[in-house]
Amino acid sequence: MRISTITNWAYGITVLLTVLSGGAFILSARSAEQERRAVEEHLAFDDLGEELALGAEERTDEARLFVIRGEERHLQAFRGRENEERRHEAAISDIRALDPSPAEATALEEVEAHADALDKIELAAIAAYQGGDRQTAQSALFGPDHERQQTALLETVTRFRELASARTSAQLEAAKSRSDWWGIAAKTMLGITAALFLGVLYFVLKRRVATPLTRMTGIVTRLAKQDYAVEVPLDPRRDEIGEMNEAIQIFRANGIERDRLDAERRLDQQTKDFILQMMHRLQACQAQSELAEVVARFAPQIFPNLAGHLYVLNESHTSLALVGTWLDPHHSTLSFESSACWALRRGRPHISNRGHSDVVCQHLDESETARLCVPLTAQGDTVGLLYFEEREGDAPTIEGSRLYLELIAENIGLALANLKLRERLTNLALRDALTGLLNRRCLDEALNRHGREDTALACLMIDIDHFKRFNDTFGHDAGDVVMQYVAQIMVDAVDTRGAVYRFGGEEFTVLLPGLSEAAATEFAEHLRERIGTTPLSHRGRILGTVSVSIGVAEAPQGGPVLTLLTRADAALLEAKAGGRNRTVSSSGIGEGVRVGIVAS
Ligand code: GH3
Ligand code: MG
Ligand code: MG
Repeated sequence: MRISTITNWAYGITVLLTVLSGGAFILSARSAEQERRAVEEHLAFDDLGEELALGAEERTDEARLFVIRGEERHLQAFRGRENEERRHEAAISDIRALDPSPAEATALEEVEAHADALDKIELAAIAAYQGGDRQTAQSALFGPDHERQQTALLETVTRFRELASARTSAQLEAAKSRSDWWGIAAKTMLGITAALFLGVLYFVLKRRVATPLTRMTGIVTRLAKQDYAVEVPLDPRRDEIGEMNEAIQIFRANGIERDRLDAERRLDQQTKDFILQMMHRLQACQAQSELAEVVARFAPQIFPNLAGHLYVLNESHTSLALVGTWLDPHHSTLSFESSACWALRRGRPHISNRGHSDVVCQHLDESETARLCVPLTAQGDTVGLLYFEEREGDAPTIEGSRLYLELIAENIGLALANLKLRERLTNLALRDALTGLLNRRCLDEALNRHGREDTALACLMIDIDHFKRFNDTFGHDAGDVVMQYVAQIMVDAVDTRGAVYRFGGEEFTVLLPGLSEAAATEFAEHLRERIGTTPLSHRGRILGTVSVSIGVAEAPQGGPVLTLLTRADAALLEAKAGGRNRTVSSSGIGEGVRVGIVAS
């Protein structure tokens, strides 16, 4: 029940009880009034009776004294009593007006009759005395008739007083008991009102308000400190406190929801921060390996529930090779044909999961795990594939995170395409378009770089012999092919020992760090032999073989690098002058030293 209902009821009952107790007090007071009136009536009746008896007695005494002594004053007194007698008669009629009982009325009539009879006897005696008949007068006043009348009068008065007394006593008793009863009723109701008031006060204030409020204060204090672990017990009461309890429960539920949303927002912000950090680093990557490392480092921080691979598409767009991996995925092969992936075929992200009744990529196993393939594209060109799989035991993430996953893929694709573009531009800037060898600019930079190092460096200057004839005989295209052949043979032979440069035209330079002139000359001879023994053909035509002349020079440890090219070139000129298809070392110029001379 609501507190306001309780207080309203209590107020109503209190008012009712107060009115009732007031009424009872009024009735009690009225009974007391009746009691008072009964007492007054009793006293009036009693006094009247007494006065009637005494009056008759005194009149008799005065009459007797007159007839005995003959003194006038007794006659006067007797007559004076007559007036009193009339007053008594008036009093008797007053009593009649007070509505005496029939018995009392009868008694009164008898009193009057006896008094009248006495009066007559006494008046007759006085008249006899005044007539001189003293004897008759005295015997009338002291005679048995007078005696009887007087006795009868006194008895009747006594009876009347007793009757009046009995009746007024009964009235008094009734009024008294009524007064008492109403007094008790009034006091009881007053007591009940007070008890009810105190009870309601205790019940409402202590049990229904103070105690729950104290409990709620504790709860609200903890909630204000964002301690949502606090329990808010269910309060089934439908009163103000119950409503307050319900409001606190809503407040707590809102707080918990706000906390959850805050945590979600923080997590989302953290994810965005990680994505942003990754994007910045991706833009600064200079090599594919760096890019793969950045992705493998950030992807598990952004999506701790998703393992994955980063694949790169080969130049011919036919197969994918793994370049990065994180959180140990094990449902996809490490390399596969591009046609094995539905995402690459369709050019759109693809979720492979049998549970979702969609086709599964052929590079994946038969697992039920949700897996996502996102093609990495940039400017309409596909450059690779980003692969994610949900980890066992973790909450499903792929569907809910697709937006971010695709955003990441877009950025990785752009970064990968940028790297490829940069690589292509670098190649264009550093490499010769025909042979793919490093160009003259690179050679200059390499020599400058080496000038700051403290190691030996050997240099081979290589020139194809009579190349012009090749062009003239087989055409410029065939000449290009010969140039490419020779370049490839040199690259294969040098491998990791040094670098091959196209110096210009049909002239090449090989730098061999750490090699002495003798070792370089030996290598040059090996190279010359290899070129000279490789048969060449172009479009089905046999071109025969080409020979090269090689000049070798060395910049020893701490020696001059600046003159290295000039010296090697001088040795090459010497080899040309000496008849071509030979190797001449710089140190042997002028001494007639020639190595590997083959008749051309
Ligand atoms: P030598 O033995 O004295 O070096 O005679 P050579 O004919 O090789 O030398 P020369 O300097 O007379 O001629 C070099 C020729 O190489 C001239 C030029 O047309 C040709 N050549 C230069 N660069 C290219 C090229 O990129 N492709 C082709 N096909 N020919 C080139
Ligand atoms: Mg030449
Ligand atoms: Mg030349």
